[in-house]
Amino acid sequence: MDPFASPHNLDRELHSFLAEASSNLCYWFAESGSQAPMPDSFDLPEAFPNKKGVSNKVLLNDLQSLMNGSYRPSHPRALAHLDPPPLSASIVGELICAGLNNNLLAEELSPSLTSLERKLCKWFCQKLGLGDLSGGVAASGGSLSNLMALVMARNIAGLENDTSAVFFASEDCHVSFSKSLRIMGLNKESLQQVPTDEKGKLDISYLSSNLKKIKSQGKKCFAVVATAGTTVRGAIDPLFEIAQFCKKEKIWLHVDGAIGGIYGLSAKTSEMVKDLASADSITVNPQKLLGIAKTSSLLLVANKNHLSSTFSTGLPYAESIKGNDFHGGELGIQGTRSAEALKLWIGLRQLGEEGIEKILLDSIKRRCYFESKIDSSRFKIISGPLHLLALTPINYTSSQGSDWSMKMRNTLLVNKFMLSRPLYEDRFYLKAVMGNPNTKFEDLKLLANLINQSIN
Ligand SMILES: *Cc1c(COP(=O)(O)O)cnc(C)c1O
Repeated sequence: MDPFASPHNLDRELHSFLAEASSNLCYWFAESGSQAPMPDSFDLPEAFPNKKGVSNKVLLNDLQSLMNGSYRPSHPRALAHLDPPPLSASIVGELICAGLNNNLLAEELSPSLTSLERKLCKWFCQKLGLGDLSGGVAASGGSLSNLMALVMARNIAGLENDTSAVFFASEDCHVSFSKSLRIMGLNKESLQQVPTDEKGKLDISYLSSNLKKIKSQGKKCFAVVATAGTTVRGAIDPLFEIAQFCKKEKIWLHVDGAIGGIYGLSAKTSEMVKDLASADSITVNPQKLLGIAKTSSLLLVANKNHLSSTFSTGLPYAESIKGNDFHGGELGIQGTRSAEALKLWIGLRQLGEEGIEKILLDSIKRRCYFESKIDSSRFKIISGPLHLLALTPINYTSSQGSDWSMKMRNTLLVNKFMLSRPLYEDRFYLKAVMGNPNTKFEDLKLLANLINQSIN
């Protein structure tokens, strides 16, 4: 039994190994609906290698145990997070990607895939309205895309050695920005949080005065972060006004569109995020709504030279690229990179523009339907124009709200609904994300009933 595929003959062992594993995966999908989003319990297979390697049969058995203990994103009532089921083409893309084992570090290790990634990034840039100089790079998740954007913004501002330099983001910005601080050697005060309004959007009226205050303390600002789709309620910051501010003050505008950026792909939804076009950089996470298998995130930039001028170190051990281009490993933090563009490309091709549009519109329809079924005399609902919302009982103290949310999450789990329980401002909410294409209106009606009945 050779653990590597034969480079000479059709490897029958690999052939049947893959066929059987794929078949098991198909059955796993098929039974997902009759299970629950989360398993009640599970047995972990042997975690460590034995002295002798085990057979494919044992491996398939072990795999089955892991699958049985896995979260099931395709369950119609799996609504807790931004983790939809994967597109079938995206699954195939991931498998082929592993087989090819190309490396986006350097062109010579991924000739076709390097080109594909560039073309795809450019396509996204054009869809979102970035200009001729634009380009981008794929990253393993939105946290990394956001970090790279901040490093780039600071570098372009010439403030890479200034540990007192700051950036602005709303109170509801993603936790990845707090993490970025630590990685970038900045202190807590470097993240200047701007208050949000009652809709969860960055309150633009604070920006000017906050910048003045920073300047009076002798500090410099290297970026403003606008969020297009906040994590708890899907609010979109006032992109137009923020862009105007940044232009006037000559400050880098990064838009964290990990959730909302994708809505820029369809003419029917792009109005909500049209001012993405004024950004210097944008994070987009196709993994969060379109069903591209994890991970899939892009960092798009209005001027792609900013990526290379920030991250290029030279790659002395690889042949240089034709023309003046840079290797993938010189456009971001990651060196060796999986060809994640493959599953993105094939997933988008499978959907077509109409399929993409349908996913985006349906997600919003489900949110609107669900929102209309919730008794607004009993619940405070917070949501934006996108596909997520959160709710909490009106008139509860924060500790009553906490008890309610815990009890409710468990009641819902018994009914096979999985929602999440974010802490937002001073209280707990239940949050539902409508990115699961398997969810039916019937499910949502039942969910709303369970919630409405939970308080009298
Ligand atoms: C999820 C999310 C991110 C981070 O993306 P990961 O892929 O989880 O690293 C960043 N910003 C927002 C608004 C998000 O919702």
